[in-house]
Amino acid sequence: MLNIRIEKNTAPKAKPTGKLGFGKIFTDHMFLMNYSTEKGWHDARIVPYGDISLDPSAMVFHYAQELFEGMKAYRTAEGKIQLFRPDKNIERMNNTCDRLCVPQINPDDALQAIKALVAVEKDWVPTEDGTSLYIRPFIIATDPMLGVHPSHTYLFIIILSPVGAYYEAGLKPVKIYVEREYVRCVKGGTGLAKAGGNYAASLKGQEKAEKMGYAQVLWLDGIERKYIDEVGAMNVFFVIDGKVITPDLTDGNILPGVTRRSCIEVLKHLGIPVEERKLSIDEVIEAHKNGKLNEVFGTGTAAVISPVGELFDDGNKMIINNNEIGPVAQKLYDTLTGIQWGKIEDPFGWTVSVED
Ligand SMILES: *Cc1c(COP(=O)(O)O)cnc(C)c1O
Repeated sequence: MLNIRIEKNTAPKAKPTGKLGFGKIFTDHMFLMNYSTEKGWHDARIVPYGDISLDPSAMVFHYAQELFEGMKAYRTAEGKIQLFRPDKNIERMNNTCDRLCVPQINPDDALQAIKALVAVEKDWVPTEDGTSLYIRPFIIATDPMLGVHPSHTYLFIIILSPVGAYYEAGLKPVKIYVEREYVRCVKGGTGLAKAGGNYAASLKGQEKAEKMGYAQVLWLDGIERKYIDEVGAMNVFFVIDGKVITPDLTDGNILPGVTRRSCIEVLKHLGIPVEERKLSIDEVIEAHKNGKLNEVFGTGTAAVISPVGELFDDGNKMIINNNEIGPVAQKLYDTLTGIQWGKIEDPFGWTVSVED
């Protein structure tokens, strides 16, 4: 059990009224906890949201020893606030810590911190349909020195942001650019870690896709440039000839998404066959040519399901399912969002109340 000191914000902000968007508004408080080699993780506190002060030589600024998580708190019709599989985010955060030589956090303490902060900010969990409170835990290396080695001191921070409905006008399929020049990560690298550095490496490809009128990039593996990794910052699923296929995690170059795992489990629960295996871009092109590429969609906490209506590869424009959301994507979307907002029964025990 953490002993969390709470310092209330004496000048709380007015709650937002208009459109929330994503990650632009922050709540009145934040959670902080320090790490040192001597004391371990210590000094857990909830304090007014605001600037933090760091030495300019702090290691995070130079060698990107930083990691983060992304999850949400949902308000049900009865007004209850619940989390979705927070244990999976915390487990992944600790796996990322391991990959980046950052000391892990006791999973019970991490959950307690998240729940405590959300409970303090409960009035910030929006009520309109499809809205939620986005939770961003992150850890930064704070040693003030330029030698390249793991830091001895860290700061664990949690901030919260009320976010709007991802889809305001139904699930609109996106156009995706197949990236054959830049890669996001390679086998043996940090692709499996939720690290800020991976995002820095992905910006160039993303910018190129956007300039060409595409929403996101389809990333291919960094070694053979042949197998599909992810789509933008989402995991990716294909329905080929009635079979659901998603890239497997064995090479460590794919982020193990909580939404990805949940989709696989829902599909299995529904008796829909799903394969986790290597899938080449050539197999996708071939399937499209033969009229067997039924659906493509991305999965992630922000959008839950993001249908792909077009894949553009080297002059080859592939339209998928008539540029409409397909039945598998729709079923997964309805099931996951139904559980998250408490609209349908949760047969998996995935939701966790913030109050207990
Ligand atoms: C966070 C993330 C995902 C999605 O993970 P979820 O747990 O489903 O939100 C997928 N790919 C990358 C690169 C990510 O950072």
